[in-house]
Amino acid sequence: MTETDESKRVADRYLKREVLGEGTYGVVYKAIDTKTGQTVAIKKIRLGKQKEGVNFTALREIKLLKELKDPNIIELTDAFPLKGKLHLAFEFMETDLEAVIRDRNIFLSHIKSYFQMTLKGLAFCHRKWVLHRDMKPNNLLIGPNGQLKLADFGLARVFGSPDRRFTHQVFARWYRAPELLFGAKQYTSAVDVWAVACVFTELFLRRPFLQGTSDIDQLGKIFAAFGTPTSSQWPDMIYLPDYVEYQYVPAPPLHSLFPMASGDALDLL
Ligand code: ADP
Repeated sequence: MTETDESKRVADRYLKREVLGEGTYGVVYKAIDTKTGQTVAIKKIRLGKQKEGVNFTALREIKLLKELKDPNIIELTDAFPLKGKLHLAFEFMETDLEAVIRDRNIFLSHIKSYFQMTLKGLAFCHRKWVLHRDMKPNNLLIGPNGQLKLADFGLARVFGSPDRRFTHQVFARWYRAPELLFGAKQYTSAVDVWAVACVFTELFLRRPFLQGTSDIDQLGKIFAAFGTPTSSQWPDMIYLPDYVEYQYVPAPPLHSLFPMASGDALDLL
């Protein structure tokens, strides 16, 4: 993509407002789209040096989001290069699930609908053969009418090709599935499901459930909560690249970990 007069004209369309936050790849700011009157969030992404080619993370995010149109997935409304940076315009979202979890006034009915919207958005991704790979409360954005949408597709990938190998360095540690922590390079949509289950527990506990301080400690915390898997439960475990043996501990009853959760909630978990 090259910068043209055209892209400058596109940029003139947006009235820049305050900075909203700093992402891994650049600043996100608020703007008014003068064409539609809507408020948008513009993510500025450094394009990288010419010889390195364009920033693949950004291109991947654009390509995937263009194919993922769903009420529970953030809408990419525009993308243009300007001053050596790629600008992605998204619908503006008021808050995110992390902020909601920290707010003491959340009700059980909200927990249900937020989690339902999370699952709907994720199911849509998986139907389109996309793994999100960074599911966590601050990537679940909440709009003015309380609608929840999956955001931040910078780590997302298409899956489903047999033998396709991926990096296991995905997800924030507290949301990482045990197969990833053991170094698996071939994995499925189950890694996203693990992460959303961690989000579900967080809605009840009002704090992250499994707060490991290292990958080894993360696995220790997972096994202490759900029991150490045996080789009959998970025969391939011992062949994973970073497998280490853990002392066997049995799983405590689930309701003892989440006394506030209903029987149905525990069943879903
Ligand atoms: P990161 O790389 O840290 O995940 P993000 O790209 O998710 O960064 O965005 C960084 C920050 O910008 C977010 O924490 C949030 O505060 C804000 N932000 C991102 N997208 C939107 C949006 N659509 N509406 C409002 N704020 C947003």
